[in-house]
Amino acid sequence: MKKTFFLLAAAFCLSVMSVSPVAFAAEKGPQIANEPMWDTAPPPANYDPALKKVLDTKAPKDKRASALANPIIVIDPGHGGSDPGAIGNNLQEKNITLDIALKSRAYLLANYPVTVYMTRSSDTTVSLENRVALANNVGADFFVSMHINSYTDPAASGLETYHYYGSVNGTRLATDIYNKLKNSYSVLRGVKEAGFYVLKYTNMPASLGETGFITNPTDAANLANSNFRQTLATQYAQGMHVYWWGF
Ligand SMILES: [Zn+2]
Repeated sequence: MKKTFFLLAAAFCLSVMSVSPVAFAAEKGPQIANEPMWDTAPPPANYDPALKKVLDTKAPKDKRASALANPIIVIDPGHGGSDPGAIGNNLQEKNITLDIALKSRAYLLANYPVTVYMTRSSDTTVSLENRVALANNVGADFFVSMHINSYTDPAASGLETYHYYGSVNGTRLATDIYNKLKNSYSVLRGVKEAGFYVLKYTNMPASLGETGFITNPTDAANLANSNFRQTLATQYAQGMHVYWWGF
């Protein structure tokens, strides 16, 4: 759908004399990453819009003062099994996201008092519905989905993180994670809003990260490097720490 829109927009721009082709060419990559949107499946049975609204504005420090001070985190490595996600430069998104997620979980558990669940911890096929159902079922305090971007133009590169439209705590979570991850990128695409399934139907604040483009040679070379993936995993974890504990 996005690709169709892009082509239509391109045709439109080229057909209008007053629109500079130079301005159009400056736009590298998609405005919104190519990930499953809200209408790809019905919500899980345990999606609770009223609870989502409450949790979206509740300050993490409110919970910090209680006996339940330590957060329950769900990490969601994008794609898996029969769904490779984006492909490029001899890499598959599902393998990169899983490795970053496993490294991030290890860092979290080694350094912070947290409980971590994974929507998958091996190369298995998990539906979007089951990913979100897990997070809602365990009562996660926040949800972090990890993805790699892609685009038809290999020049598109860089970092972006997402939250659901208008989400208060989702914006904080996406921003705190972005502010750590941005140390690994020279192209910074910003903190964005989107209606991705896992952002919409999780009852708790949620963020989705797109750490580079698998279709970009430089980003892909970095993502193929285990040390770089470890750095991203650490930065994800540190961003989560800032979100929950405020520093
Ligand atoms: Zn993805």
